[in-house]
Parts: sequence; C-alpha cells; structure tokens
Amino acid sequence: MTTRIVWLRRDFRLDDNPALLRAAESAERLVVLYIHAPEEDAPWPAGAASCWWLHHSLLALSQQLEAEGNRLVIRSGPSLNALRECIETTGAASVYWNRLYTPMARDRDRRIKTALRDQGIEARSFNAALLAEPWAVETRSGGPYRVFTPFWKSIRDGLRAAAPCPRPMLPPCPAMESEPLDALGLLPDRDWADGFAAHWTPGSGGAQQRLSDFLDTALQDYDSGRNRPDLDATSGLSPHLHFGEIGPRQIVAAVDAASSDDGRTRSAQQADKFLSEIAWREFAHHVLFHFPETLEQSMNPRFRHFEWAGRDSDLQAWQHGQTGIPIVDAGMRQLWHTGWMHNRVRMIVGSLLTKNLRQHWRKGAQWFWDTLVDADLANNTLGWQWIAGCGADAAPYFRIFNPVSQGEKFDPHGAYVRRWVPEIEGLPDAHLHAPWTAPAPVLRQAKLRLGRDYPAPIVDLKASRQDALDAYAKVKG
Ligand code: FAD
Repeated sequence: MTTRIVWLRRDFRLDDNPALLRAAESAERLVVLYIHAPEEDAPWPAGAASCWWLHHSLLALSQQLEAEGNRLVIRSGPSLNALRECIETTGAASVYWNRLYTPMARDRDRRIKTALRDQGIEARSFNAALLAEPWAVETRSGGPYRVFTPFWKSIRDGLRAAAPCPRPMLPPCPAMESEPLDALGLLPDRDWADGFAAHWTPGSGGAQQRLSDFLDTALQDYDSGRNRPDLDATSGLSPHLHFGEIGPRQIVAAVDAASSDDGRTRSAQQADKFLSEIAWREFAHHVLFHFPETLEQSMNPRFRHFEWAGRDSDLQAWQHGQTGIPIVDAGMRQLWHTGWMHNRVRMIVGSLLTKNLRQHWRKGAQWFWDTLVDADLANNTLGWQWIAGCGADAAPYFRIFNPVSQGEKFDPHGAYVRRWVPEIEGLPDAHLHAPWTAPAPVLRQAKLRLGRDYPAPIVDLKASRQDALDAYAKVKG
C-alpha cells in the first residue's frame, strides 16, 4: 500500500496545491502533515499577529480535510525528526512539499531533501506560491532585477503560463497520533487579538469570499480607490496570500474571468493595475531570494553609514498611535486593532518613522512583523527599505511624505481619521489632519484640549524634514 506524506507549511489550501495533488493522485494513504518549528525561522519566527492567524488557518484546514475524508496531522519540530518519525510510523515512501523562499526555509529544506534522499525516501518540491520563481526571471545581462518596472514587463506576458491545478480526491490518513492544535500555544494570552475575528476569516473559504467580493465591487475602481484608506477599495487578500490559503495563479484566473465578463468589470486596465500589485509581491520574493542580506542590511550600501537617530519615547509614541499626527495615529491604531494597515498609510507611517523621526527602518519592520496578520518577510523588508529610501527601486530619500497633505489628499473627508482617532472627531475637516493649526475657539468647540485629550505633535514636521535631508546629504556622496 503506497503511503505518501504531504508536508504543508504556508500552503493551507486544497485547490491549486501541486504538492497535495501529486501526492494524492498516486497514493492509497495520505498523511497531510503540519510541523510546528518556529525555531527554524529564527531570527524571524512568526510574530504574535501571524500566530493568531496561523492557529485559525490550521483549524479551518483541519475541518476542510475532515470533510474530505482525511485529517490534519500536527507535530512539533525539528522538522527532519518529525518527518522521520512519521515515515517510520506509516512506512511512507515519499514526502512532497511546496517551496518557500526565505533564506532560512531554503537552507532547511535543502538539508531535509538531501537527508531524506540519502535514506531512500523520495523527496520532491513544487511551486504553489509564485507566478515566477526567483531563478526563472533574469535581466538581459543575466542578473537579478533590482527595479520593478522591467521586472513586471518581463513577467507580464507569462502570468498565465500555468493554470491553477485541480483539487484532488484525498485518500484516507493512516492511523497515527497528532498533537492538539491548542498545544502549539499560538493564541496570545492577552485579549489584544480578540478584535481580529471581526475583520478576518482565516482559511481558504475566507480567501475565496474576499476575492469574490473584491471582484464584484472594488476592482472596478481599483486604480483610483486603492490609495484611499477611508474606502474599502483593496482586496484584503494579503494574509490569505501569505499563508497560501489562496495562490496567485487562482487570483490571475479569477481576475481574467471577471474581466471578460462585461457586466462585472469596467475595464481591463483596472485588472492590469491589480495584477501589477500582485507582481510587487513577486518582485519582493525575487529581491529577497537574490539579496538575502537585505533582511538585516540596507540594500543601498550608502545607508550602512547613515546617521540613524531616534529616541525610544518617539518609537513608543509611534507604536501606540500617540504621535499627535492624526493620519499616522489612525494607521498605527488600525494596525493594533485589526492586524492590518492600508498600504498608503503604511507608507505615511514608515516615512514619518524613518525620516522625520530618523529611526532605523528595522525598528519599523520589527513592529510590523509582530503586529501584522499579513507579516511577510519578503514584502515587509521590501516595503520598509522602499519607504526608507535605501532598498530596491526605492522612493528617493528626499521624497519625505508630508502626513498632513497626504491625509488631506487620501482621506479627504476625514472618515478614516475620525474612525481611529475619535478624540478629534469634532474638529472641522479643515483642521482635522493638523489639529495644532486650529485656533482656540475651534478647539473649544470641538471639545479638544491639545496635549491632554490628544497629544501635541511629537515632532516639528518642517524642521525634522530638513534634519533628515542634512543627514542624507552626508551619505549621498
Ligand atoms: P491589494 O491592493 O488588494 O493588493 C493585492 C496583493 O498584492 C496584496 O495582498 C499583496 O500580496 C500584493 N501587494 C500589494 N502591494 C504590495 C507591495 N507594495 N509590496 C508587495 N506586495 C504587494 N505586504 C504584505 O503582504 N506583508 C507585509 O509584511 C507588508 N509590509 C509592508 C510594509 C511597508 C512599510 C509597506 C509600505 C508595505 C508593506 N506591504 C506588505 C505591502 C502592502 O502594504 C500590502 O500588501 C497591502 O496593503 C495588502 O493589502 P491588500 O491585500 O488589500 O492589497
């Protein structure tokens, strides 16, 4: 009787899962295995918000597998030991998995593949997570890309090269033990994450629902709407993509189907813009794969001598949404309460932290790592280095976002700020994004005592902008 193991890591779906399909189609018994081994991701084990998601994602997967006549087997690491133990218990002849691309996962997987093959076990890996794996794309001169637009041009025509693969019929799981999900201790002890469930439904069912809602509504105005944090105008697919509850091939196929149906999508241009954002994720994986040192170091070597400054009190005010700059505080509070922040606001809070407050981008990356449900090493590292001006295809350092004009432009009626910073909701729109400019009678009428009900700004935006530019001039060369 042929028994195979499919080792799931961040590919928690039954559809378009090539490792699962290949393992299931030729086996009489199938072990669907998740191994919990956070130490193997050091120094970047999943943060607290990710762990919350992981718990619920595994729960959803396990229910889905049971409905299909199989079940999820959970073990604790080290991964190689857990795999060997499962092979011994079940007599499995092969282990299949889908590839991950972080430097830590690649090293581990390479070691495990060799060890299993040495033992006479068939070990095979597949691509479930990307449209273009990092080694499959190169510049004309043969190296990796560092700039997004040529990367996008080079992958654009091949986006449909591989269609999503079908869901397999699952053979049953052999009798074997599994650790209870609760024993992994993934849920936080404090009630901080309680609110997440109101915003998210982890699992592939939740991912499909998000995608279909997005295609029915927001895709039609994606290009203009995507910058508006006050609107529900983006897909919200990022945590689902990170945990592989949906894959990019499924997204491309669904977007194509929606675009060819005139009644649903106004223009192929909107679909193209959305797919170009999916391609940013591909680009981030490409960059991290080829430049793994960027996890810790600025990609632009000039920034290795940059004079980062920054007081701890500023960092704490930023983390807790108490900077006195409304759009920044709204973003940081949205992050704390929902585990997610709108992309435009990620850029605004990132610019304030790395430029006006001159904190090292790693401090921002670390906080996001712990608090985002979509925390993803490739996207987070690229995002932080981009906004700090030191990464691949980064915004030029001198482009320092003015959070007041950004707020006025992208939250024009103040709905986003009023939702997350209710202390200042009584201010008229004209002063909402800069309460310190409001005359005393306006503050009185809004029942707002600056410095008491809501902080005065912790930084002078104009002076700190100049200080940042002066610091940059020293490394610019
Ligand atoms: P949509 O606009 O609906 O986009 C669809 C998908 O495209 C996203 O789900 C995401 O997978 C991908 N995508 C969109 N924009 C980007 C981008 N700029 N870079 C890479 N992929 C992108 N994204 C993460 O998934 N994890 C992170 O840890 C992360 N950290 C970030 C840190 C900073 C400082 C910045 C500026 C951006 C970061 N991003 C990160 C990128 C982006 O903010 C999120 O992917 C996006 O806000 C997710 O919302 P959405 O799914 O509604 O996006």
